[in-house]
Amino acid sequence: MSGIDTLPPLRAVIAEHGLSARKSLGQNFLLDLNLTAKIARQAGDLTQCDVLEIGPGPGGLTRGLLAQGARHVLAIEKDARCLPALEEIAAAYPGRLEVLNADALAVDPLTHLTPPIRIAANLPYNVGTELLVRWLTPPEWPPFWQSLTLMFQREVAERIVAQPGSKAYGRLAILAQWRADAYIAMSLPPGAFTPPPKVSSAVVHLTALPEPRFPADPAKLEKVVARAFNQRRKMLRAALKGMAPDIEDRLIAAGIAPTDRAETVDLERFCALARLM
Ligand code: SAM
Repeated sequence: MSGIDTLPPLRAVIAEHGLSARKSLGQNFLLDLNLTAKIARQAGDLTQCDVLEIGPGPGGLTRGLLAQGARHVLAIEKDARCLPALEEIAAAYPGRLEVLNADALAVDPLTHLTPPIRIAANLPYNVGTELLVRWLTPPEWPPFWQSLTLMFQREVAERIVAQPGSKAYGRLAILAQWRADAYIAMSLPPGAFTPPPKVSSAVVHLTALPEPRFPADPAKLEKVVARAFNQRRKMLRAALKGMAPDIEDRLIAAGIAPTDRAETVDLERFCALARLM
């Protein structure tokens, strides 16, 4: 036997290393290895890839990623209590798992990784959203990653994949869909986690497009979209007032009625407007 088969069940790992879940670190663990294998499969073909995993905890998803054949996994975990459990996994997969005890928001993982790179994580939701926005707004496109497979609160997952006309549609949908294909790959009830969180979760898979879906300057698009959705109930001529004296003309030139509200405007027209700013 090799790899995952030689490792103990996750409940035993948690008991042995005293990994009682800490709320302050957003710890809701996945202990069902069939489930973590399924999530790892959503990340695509890993055999030729390095995988960046943020927040491995006791290592359920890490084991899934390695069992799926990931060439190399870099796992960044803030909680030092998890390190012995992760070292056991590293020993079962010699040379394929590197563990960094660090805050993922404070380190640059790139020096540890060789492209192609995929990212997979079950992270606390606040850290996940912050990292997602960072990964979606790099200084240059295409980014260093090929795909992101990330667990989110169901409501956040819906905001990422939302279409115009829905309540969930906003800045996050535009940011994600402008330069990536995004879909909800799996839904998970609270009971899938130990301890169970209050709300349902979902895994979102994003694939980086080689270039943006429509041309636009990232900073201008970001600014227009932030303003537009900041006052999402207002008509755009009011919400964007102050951005330009002739904002109504620019809206019309972009194919947007000045009386439209942000949530009805699709990505293509937001990009057209950004090009006129
Ligand atoms: N991936 C594991 C699983 O699925 O069972 C653990 C998931 S738990 C929701 C989130 C993990 O992220 C915890 O192990 C926690 O210690 C870790 N974590 C929280 N904040 C972090 C940060 N800023 N950087 C790295 N890891 C972090």
